[in-house]
Amino acid sequence: MKDYRVLIVEDERRIARFLQMELEHEGMLISVEDNGRRAYERIVQEDYDIVLLDVMLPEMDGFTVCQKVRELSQVPIIMLTARDDIADRVQGLDIGADDYLTKPFAVPELLARMRVALRRREANGDGGEDLQGEQLSVRNLVMYPARHEVRVGDEAVELTKKEYDLLEYLLRNKRRVLTRDQILSNVWGYDYMGDTNVVDVYIRYLRQKLDDRFGEKYIYTMRGVGYGVKD
Ligand code: CA
Repeated sequence: MKDYRVLIVEDERRIARFLQMELEHEGMLISVEDNGRRAYERIVQEDYDIVLLDVMLPEMDGFTVCQKVRELSQVPIIMLTARDDIADRVQGLDIGADDYLTKPFAVPELLARMRVALRRREANGDGGEDLQGEQLSVRNLVMYPARHEVRVGDEAVELTKKEYDLLEYLLRNKRRVLTRDQILSNVWGYDYMGDTNVVDVYIRYLRQKLDDRFGEKYIYTMRGVGYGVKD
């Protein structure tokens, strides 16, 4: 996380100083703010990669700061609070915080959470790069792996975990005929011990949700061999 620009919003100087030193040690570029209202102004005006946000702050509390920032920005925000309170935890996530850490926390834990929050934003394509991220498609059916989303035209398709994994495997191997064994070992795992009919069953589920619903033939059968998708 070298060169990441981090804003630490914390009014306890001792904690702010400690975090600053630890994160600078990791090569990050640190700014510190001790006032909630000013923190809000800086977050929306300046360009930070991630914000560490205390809850109890002068002038504007951290929850309000987070909520107001979210009207304008998707910058990753990790809430830091002294109170190990379930209500706070729920509120912290509801208002759009990426994560929530109770003080005192260990620095490696903070770094791990920061990495996850940053990766998630990058996967979501925030920051003006490719907004959709990677796309897998067959005709008007599009899968967005970063968002775990499948759409046919404008319509979202709800899939179970296994249905999604199966469809992803088919899409990543478009135009190839995949045998049941290949599908089994790639989607269910090489150590799957159950019935190989499970592949046919899940192909049928996918066809109900895709081919039947949208009146298209996305998944074809090569009799005696296996399944595939093609444009
Ligand atoms: Ca505080």
